[in-house]
Amino acid sequence: MNESRRVRVRFAPSPTGPLHIGGVRTALYNYLLAHKHGGDFILRIEDTDQTRYVQGAEQYIIDSLKWLGISPNEGVGVGGPHAPYRQSERKHLYKQYVDQLLKSGFAYYAFDTAEDLEAMRERLKASNVDAKYDAITRMAMKNSLTMPEDEVQRMLETGAAFVVRIKLPKKEEVKFHDEIRGWVSFNTSQMDDKVLYKSDGMPTYHMANVVDDYLMQITHVIRGEEWLPSAPLHVLLYRYLGWEEVMPKFAHLPLLLKPEGNGKLSKRDGDRLGFPVFPIDWVDPLTGEKSSGYRESGYLPHAVVNLLAFLGWNPGTNQELFTMQELIDAFTLERVSKSGAKFDQNKAKWFNQQYIRHVDNAILVEALKKEVNAHQLSFSDDFILRTCELVKEKISFIKDLWPMSSYFFVEPTSYDDGVIQKRWNEKSPLVLQDMIQLVQADMQFSALSFEKSYNEALLKNGVAGKDFLQLLRVCLTGIAGGPPLFEMAALFGKESTMQRLKNALYIHSK
Ligand code: GLU
Repeated sequence: MNESRRVRVRFAPSPTGPLHIGGVRTALYNYLLAHKHGGDFILRIEDTDQTRYVQGAEQYIIDSLKWLGISPNEGVGVGGPHAPYRQSERKHLYKQYVDQLLKSGFAYYAFDTAEDLEAMRERLKASNVDAKYDAITRMAMKNSLTMPEDEVQRMLETGAAFVVRIKLPKKEEVKFHDEIRGWVSFNTSQMDDKVLYKSDGMPTYHMANVVDDYLMQITHVIRGEEWLPSAPLHVLLYRYLGWEEVMPKFAHLPLLLKPEGNGKLSKRDGDRLGFPVFPIDWVDPLTGEKSSGYRESGYLPHAVVNLLAFLGWNPGTNQELFTMQELIDAFTLERVSKSGAKFDQNKAKWFNQQYIRHVDNAILVEALKKEVNAHQLSFSDDFILRTCELVKEKISFIKDLWPMSSYFFVEPTSYDDGVIQKRWNEKSPLVLQDMIQLVQADMQFSALSFEKSYNEALLKNGVAGKDFLQLLRVCLTGIAGGPPLFEMAALFGKESTMQRLKNALYIHSK
């Protein structure tokens, strides 16, 4: 390949259902490589197999990429010099290349019916031979290699249904370099004469994919590992069409694996373990079945980008949080791993938690305010903001805000049993009583003065701080764990803090 070519990569999904996060990762790696080299990232929709077409799937792909900021600069929804980018609209472009292959003897017409093919399979199965249409078996089938030429002509003229198949050599090594796997080699004896084109005028995936990559001047084909077995066929097509000089580099990405590591990550794993495997919600137009998405599950788009970047790639340093620009700068195909990447749902949550810490407070305030209003409570924006600032570090999702902070707005009526049983003793009411008095007399109630009152009450009653602090937290909030206690009390204010202490004292002294 001419190294000075402008880097052009494409994400080429088929609209057959919701886009799996593995597909999103493929799009992301393409996007990163394109931007790293100041090149182009193209979105091409491969919809030649109309039987697998699913309504809404294309829009879903576009919406998902948009939400994640993985925007194509050319392609469906954007346009560009190679438009149209939807293969069903490019139908007229493929035939000339199919004709070229037919003419040069690298492809042939086949007229076998479904029954003929079935009979061939049965025959071969019976003699324990791999049932495929190949250099040996094709000689016993109905095609332009076995039929007289005038017969072939007559069939074509009368409009008989046909397919065009590639004519693979019987036994030939096809070797190519994969940017991730190194040299890869296949033997044509293991491959079959794939259908390239059908008499309805539609190319198959292989033909359309190679022709479009050529016409769109694609320099790198970055796609999932499941396409590796198709690559030798694609290499031969480049060769047979005389395009070897400009053949793109190939990079086949490792699979995304189940958390346990055995097998491909599926929707069922997500349902079973409670995490999404799709970027945004999807409702199947035929069955109505719903698949949940990262967006609706409360993930921030960049957290998803960051976690996907790390599923199969690493920067070789300890840095884990990357902006999109940092990913672009650090990304290389050499650092993509060959082996499958295990999905880790806790790590996914961790990424979200990290990004929640950096999210604009206004977004959190708006979300929490909605909850406060929905519970018919009235608090100032400032109180809500300060609550957000205190709990921000503790949440993984925006939707956790209210459950993690409701006690800021509503004084607790129930208390963590475990802590009460472990920590409440005969001295506890005495300490609480003293604290109530000290708070009552405190004219400039603050985090600092409250801590002072607390220490004074402990000292007076001969109680160690480490034994009492957790109990005090549960008395004030109902739950164990949370933001810094004294700062929180300062936000509750003197009256509410006193009330909370009194409530706890009353309930537990009964
Ligand atoms: N249409 C294929 C897919 O759905 C594209 C494979 C490729 O990138 O070549 O994944």
